[in-house]
Amino acid sequence: MIAVVKNSATTEQKEHLISWIKGQGIEVHISEGHDYTVLGLIGDTSRIDMDLIASLEIVESVKRVAEPFKQCGRKFHPDDTVIEIGNVKIGGGNFAMIAGPCSVESHDQILEVATSVAASGATLLRGGAFKPRTSPYDFQGLKADGIELLLEAKKVTGMPIVTEIMNANHLPLFEDVDVIQVGARNMQNFELLKELGKTGKTILLKRGLANTLKELLMSAEYIMAGGNSNIILCERGIRTFETFTRNTLDLSAVPLLHELTHLPVVIDPSHATGQAKLVEPMAVAAAACGADGIMIEVHNDPLHALCDGAQSLTPAQFGEVARKVMKIREAING
Ligand code: PEP
Ligand code: MN
Repeated sequence: MIAVVKNSATTEQKEHLISWIKGQGIEVHISEGHDYTVLGLIGDTSRIDMDLIASLEIVESVKRVAEPFKQCGRKFHPDDTVIEIGNVKIGGGNFAMIAGPCSVESHDQILEVATSVAASGATLLRGGAFKPRTSPYDFQGLKADGIELLLEAKKVTGMPIVTEIMNANHLPLFEDVDVIQVGARNMQNFELLKELGKTGKTILLKRGLANTLKELLMSAEYIMAGGNSNIILCERGIRTFETFTRNTLDLSAVPLLHELTHLPVVIDPSHATGQAKLVEPMAVAAAACGADGIMIEVHNDPLHALCDGAQSLTPAQFGEVARKVMKIREAING
């Protein structure tokens, strides 16, 4: 971190600042210039409040040189992280195809969707058991029964399962769940992230509706700081002024995150667009820009889905998307 101090500051003021910084275990390199004094802060500055320093009258500007996301940053871990979930790998050139309904609704629904998406090339089965709904009067999910049904579908198809957690108290119910999803609304539920950091579970961390990539990485850092580095990041669209789509898919997140972090990045074109017809073009684009996977909502009867029917593909439509996505991957991988 570099702090530029105005030369109008008195020696006493400068010394006061320097000793305050040193008091936090940071070495300070002082460079006296004609107009400014530049302080180079050397050491682990992740706990230094940059805004606090910048707010001081005698400080002209402050700049971070090293990113605060140390563990998920690529700087200290140059190789791609490859997450292994049973026989499925994701990251480092391995592409994951996650598919399934928004919510698990019944035994027949989840089994029908699971068997059909498995036949079309899906590698992981998704399905919400605990649903974060905007209205308390909407279907809230089958909860523990939903997880049981997912486990049954896993037994039949062999596909590992992905399902969302909303409360750390529910963790015992997730014992046999392969990938625990943290939804967009909980991306900054730091107490939940801390609890997940204590588990060895793979976490699918979705970007919040109004969160920056840096904030997404800091949330991943919370999980890693607890000792769990099995994290998959997911871009699922952010809220903008556009109203034609449910959200705006930020595809530039893929190459940017690949530069900033070693963690795999998947795209969810279903929540990003909210419209079934837009899922295929966005899924294909995600594969083209180097995503490590896609997550798509599929329902055997979208018209009667209890949640997110408008953005759900039929199994046949998913089969077509999966085929095109694989073709794009072949094309870009030569
Ligand atoms: C979901 O994946 O079912 C979901 C609720 O997504 P998000 O948290 O991205 O809205
Ligand atoms: Mn959904």
